[in-house]
Amino acid sequence: MKRILLLLLFTTQEIVFGQLSINQIQQSSIELNENINGVSFENGTIGRSVSSIGRTMIFSYDVPIDWIPIKKQTLIKQIIDSGKYIYLVENNLNWSYYYYRNNLIVDTIDIFWKDFDQIYLGDYLNLGGLENGITIDLKIKQPLGWETHDGGEINLVYFTSKGKIISLGVEETGEFYNRNEVDDFFDSEVEISNLIDFIKENSRGIYINSFKKEIINGYPFISCNGYHDNINKHYYVWVTIIEDYILLYYGFTTEKSENDLNEFKYILKSLKYGSSTKSNKINYGDVDDELIIFVEKFYRDLNNNSISTTIPEEFSVKFSNLDKDELTCDSHGVSYGMFDDSKVDILINKKSWDSFSTVQKYYILYHEMFHDVFNLEHSKNIEDFGEIMYPGFSKYDTLYMEDFLNSLNKLLNKLK
Ligand SMILES: [Zn+2]
Repeated sequence: MKRILLLLLFTTQEIVFGQLSINQIQQSSIELNENINGVSFENGTIGRSVSSIGRTMIFSYDVPIDWIPIKKQTLIKQIIDSGKYIYLVENNLNWSYYYYRNNLIVDTIDIFWKDFDQIYLGDYLNLGGLENGITIDLKIKQPLGWETHDGGEINLVYFTSKGKIISLGVEETGEFYNRNEVDDFFDSEVEISNLIDFIKENSRGIYINSFKKEIINGYPFISCNGYHDNINKHYYVWVTIIEDYILLYYGFTTEKSENDLNEFKYILKSLKYGSSTKSNKINYGDVDDELIIFVEKFYRDLNNNSISTTIPEEFSVKFSNLDKDELTCDSHGVSYGMFDDSKVDILINKKSWDSFSTVQKYYILYHEMFHDVFNLEHSKNIEDFGEIMYPGFSKYDTLYMEDFLNSLNKLLNKLK
């Protein structure tokens, strides 16, 4: 009985991973051994032997007196650059290097296939931002050994590798959600079922087996898995809402496997986001291009909260060099239309703006708009640090979009 079990385990592993068996590893080390003995390499080392123990292949070299030992990280980098790390990872294969001088070991380096777990992602790819009309900056690390494709009109990007596909896309929600709201949202059965309907609509021929709430990098996601009839693939999808976008990250695979699931998730974990700006055709009069999207979002948020206001005909939100004017020295922005409801007249200091983070840009623009449109005055208590009406923008470079959204919610609730 024990023998049969062992045999079963062995064959199952062969099928699932399709990796080299221990026998095959041994066989290939015997072949390499025949070719390496006495061969000189560029760094002055001379091949000694190749052998194997279990899933580890051992390469032995003789080194000259003036030989400088290689660092493990350098070797790892070389293996990544050569693409051979994929071979190691796929076959759960380790490579050990033994360096000899006068038949004594002087140095060893062990490269484990698991060493590549954390570093098989390449550089960040910028997906969102100005070019494609999306106001959030989305960045994801490019998985090495995968092909990267432009996502066209529907998706931002997709990656392919041996029958596997990853696609990442966004859709506008039309309103802001902060992290807490998204978190609550994903606890509601009604909202989840709406979301599931949205996923189905988004991709015809999709069947959903199960779904759950999942926290990835501190951010709430709904993850589902199922089958896609049209392309005959299993899929895993992670969905979340970031600011005012719904984000869909799909991983498709021919075989349903835990390995693929983990790989998809691992790549997803490299996702980073932050807001950026975009200019838009809608014009509220005399508004500088770069500021339009912020003004637009300001009115959108009022509208979403049923706060009605009319947009005056005399409407100007422009950049200026406020630091050159003595009266407005040190000002990041000025609202000349405050206490005059017949106009909106705002100047934003260009120098401040250019040095500001996107979060600070939201703060300054909404601050001046609240002055001008609702005649709101400053909050002066130091405890109000982080509030939109607290004039401390230079120090707001440490704040996050979450801080802005929390403060915005408070203000909008007061104005309702
Ligand atoms: Zn102010």
